[in-house]
Amino acid sequence: AMYEAKDAGGAQYHVYHDDMYQRVAQRVMLESEVRQALAKNQFSLSLQPQLSAQDKKLYGLEALLRWHHPERGMVSPDDFIPIIEKSEHMIELGYWVIRRCFELSKELRNKGYKDVRIAINLSAGQFSDINLPQYLSTLLAEFVLPANSFELELTEQTLVTDIEKAIDTMNNLKALGFTFAIDDFGTGYSSLAYLKRMPVDVIKIDKSFVFGMLENHADYQIIMSTIAMVKNLGLLVVAEGVESSAQLRSLTENECDIIQGYYFAKPVPEVELFAFLDSHIDE
Ligand code: C2E
Ligand code: CA
Ligand code: CA
Ligand code: CA
Repeated sequence: AMYEAKDAGGAQYHVYHDDMYQRVAQRVMLESEVRQALAKNQFSLSLQPQLSAQDKKLYGLEALLRWHHPERGMVSPDDFIPIIEKSEHMIELGYWVIRRCFELSKELRNKGYKDVRIAINLSAGQFSDINLPQYLSTLLAEFVLPANSFELELTEQTLVTDIEKAIDTMNNLKALGFTFAIDDFGTGYSSLAYLKRMPVDVIKIDKSFVFGMLENHADYQIIMSTIAMVKNLGLLVVAEGVESSAQLRSLTENECDIIQGYYFAKPVPEVELFAFLDSHIDE
C-alpha cells in the first residue's frame, strides 16, 4: 500500500509538472500570438442584446470578444482570456475592446439607438491598470459620448484582489458617469457587505443558475431570492443564459428586469449588428 501511495503521488506530481509546463508554454505562445493578432485584425466583437423583461425593449448590448485565428479557427474567449488574463497583452487587447465599443456606441447613436448601453467586460488586470480612468475619460472627450452609454462589467473575482482599491477605482469612474454591473453573481466570493459599499447599478445572475432553474429547486430559490434582494437594494437585475420561453416567463413573473440569452438572441457579429437591430428590435 505504501508503494502504491508513493507511486500514485509520484505519477500525480509528474502529471502536474507536465501540465504546468504545457500551460506555461501555451501561455507564452498565446501571448505572442495576441500581439500579432491585434496587428492583423483577427479580433472582432459580437454583441448580445439585453431586453427589458416587461416590454421587450432593447436595454443594452454586451460586447463579447471573438478571435478568428487563421489556423485554429474561432477561438473562444473562455479558451484564451483566462490564460493571458494577467499579461500586459490582455491589457492591450482590453483597450482595443474599449475603443471598439466607443466606436460602436457612436454608430448606434448616429443610427437613432440613443439609449442603448454597451456592456464592456473588464478583466482584473485591466481594472487595476492605473491608466484605465485616464484612458476612459480621453475617449469620452474624443467621441463626445456620455459615460452612462457604457456599463462596465466586473466579476466578483476581479473585485476581491484588492477590495479597497477596487472600490476607489469604481468611485472615480462612477464620478465620470460610468455605470457598473457585477457579472457572474453568485459564483465568486460575493460579499454582500462589500456590495453595499460599491457604486453598483446592475447585478447579473450567472447563467449556471438559469440553465436548470425550472428543474432544480435550489437554483430556482437562489435566483428568486437574488432578484428580491437586488430589487430591494434599488438595483437592476439581469438574468443571462435564458434559453427558453418557460424560463423567460418565470423570470418575468418574478420581476427580473432584464433578460439576456439565446432565447432572444445569440451574440451578433458586429458586421451584422445594424441589419439585425433593424429587423429584430423595435426601439
Ligand atoms: P460572460 O461575461 O459571462 O459572458 C456571457 C457568456 O455567455 C458569453 O460567452 C455568451 O455568448 C454566453 N451566453 C449568453 N447567453 C447564453 C445562453 O442563453 N446560453 C448559453 N449556453 N450561453 C450564453 P462567450 O462569448 O463565449 O464569452 C465567454 C466569457 O469570456 C465571458 O463570459 C467573459 O468572461 C469572457 N469575455 C468575453 N469577451 C470579453 C472581453 O472583451 N473582455 C474580457 N475581459 N472578458 C471577455
Ligand atoms: Ca459579462
Ligand atoms: Ca456572465
Ligand atoms: Ca462567465
